[in-house]
Amino acid sequence: MKQLIIIGGGAAGFFLASNLKYCNWNVLIIEQAKKPLQKLKISGGGRCNLSNACFVPKELTKFYPRGAKELLNVFHQFQPLDTIEWFKNKNTNIKIESDNRIFPETNSSQTIIDTLLNETSSNQINITYETQVTQITKNENKFNIQTNQNLYCADSVVICTGSSQKMWKIIEKLGHKIIPPVPSLFTFNCKNSLIQNLQGISFLNAEVSIPQLKIKENGPILITHWGLSGPAILRLSAWGAREIANLNYNFSININWISEKFDTVKENLYKIKQAHPKKTISSLKIYNITQRFWLNLLDHVGISNKLLADLGKKDINRIAEIITHTQLIIDGKSTYKNEFVTAGGVDLKEIDFKTMQSKLISGLYFAGEVLNIDAVTGGFNFQACWSEAFIISKQFKYKK
Ligand SMILES: Cc1cc2nc3c(=O)[nH]c(=O)nc-3n(C[C@H](O)[C@H](O)[C@H](O)COP(=O)(O)OP(=O)(O)OC[C@H]3O[C@@H](n4cnc5c(N)ncnc54)[C@H](O)[C@@H]3O)c2cc1C
Repeated sequence: MKQLIIIGGGAAGFFLASNLKYCNWNVLIIEQAKKPLQKLKISGGGRCNLSNACFVPKELTKFYPRGAKELLNVFHQFQPLDTIEWFKNKNTNIKIESDNRIFPETNSSQTIIDTLLNETSSNQINITYETQVTQITKNENKFNIQTNQNLYCADSVVICTGSSQKMWKIIEKLGHKIIPPVPSLFTFNCKNSLIQNLQGISFLNAEVSIPQLKIKENGPILITHWGLSGPAILRLSAWGAREIANLNYNFSININWISEKFDTVKENLYKIKQAHPKKTISSLKIYNITQRFWLNLLDHVGISNKLLADLGKKDINRIAEIITHTQLIIDGKSTYKNEFVTAGGVDLKEIDFKTMQSKLISGLYFAGEVLNIDAVTGGFNFQACWSEAFIISKQFKYKK
């Protein structure tokens, strides 16, 4: 019987093994840790956001800053609807939340781990733990896989080692190009009196851009005690991951806190001034802006105690300017709930996405974060793992 070795017992490796029911290869998973699926266990805050209810492949690819073009074909073969069906068939109930994120009904990542472990066990997949791959070579048709324990021999190898620097070096020695890794999905550090002591305040419909990089995002922004977070910031960090790294995480951003035009806000302020001249500016409540932010803003402009009647043209322009065009300096990044992905990895030009096989070395396949593919938050990173691993499984199944 031919030998297939899967290196890496994470999401991609275990989903592949779970799909090798009708397979006449001897299959072994090599995992360096004591236990499998440790990243999946902590994913989604322990709930595992395993996919997203976006069922049109072309639309789905738009959530991938790197890999969109290549994944189109992959998602035509296996997409979130197939993921839902797959888990349902294994008696694992899953639910779609109002923002389209998909979770196990139990709200526990352990459910997904149990399903994958059950499937690999019923498919009689061998697994060796605490075994770290240190070298891979290929002689004629056989792969030699050196580990800290043994030397293994395989006819085919699938590398699913996530964002491991050591493995990328080993893959490089095999002749593959590695796009240098940089973090993606991070929050922005910022010290500015406008947002000081406002942690927890959010703006649901903001617009944030990095003019220098010509990138822009819309959506919720959250002020944190170190700076800015929230979906719009995380998406911006993903789309600009490489360029922001090149700027050494020092750059300036523009924020329109309410996605309104400067002139509209200005006109609105004039109207309010006319209607309520005796009111103090600090008592105003406009555009659902929280009181704490409004007071910080007035402090910033230096007009906290004025009556509306005393607001001059300059004051009104300045308020409208801050609401629609705040400029902030970002000086570093922080991790979002310990959640991050790595942009970078095996160069996609060297992979045949119909099969996930290397174009350079026959019999060698890749799936998961080891590739230069990553997504914004929302379950898309796992979906890429499931889809790629499923495609690989088809290469090893015999016809029923
Ligand atoms: C805290 C956190 C939360 C996340 N939450 C979500 C989420 O809710 N939804 C989502 O879609 N994405 C999420 N992500 C991203 C997601 O976890 C990854 O995209 C996904 O785990 C990648 O799967 P993988 O199989 O490619 O790699 P991994 O899951 O990282 O698995 C790789 C495996 O290979 C093993 N390995 C590495 N090198 C070797 C070696 N030399 N020899 C043997 N074994 C080796 C590792 O020990 C590991 O078990 C989250 C990430 C983090 C960090």
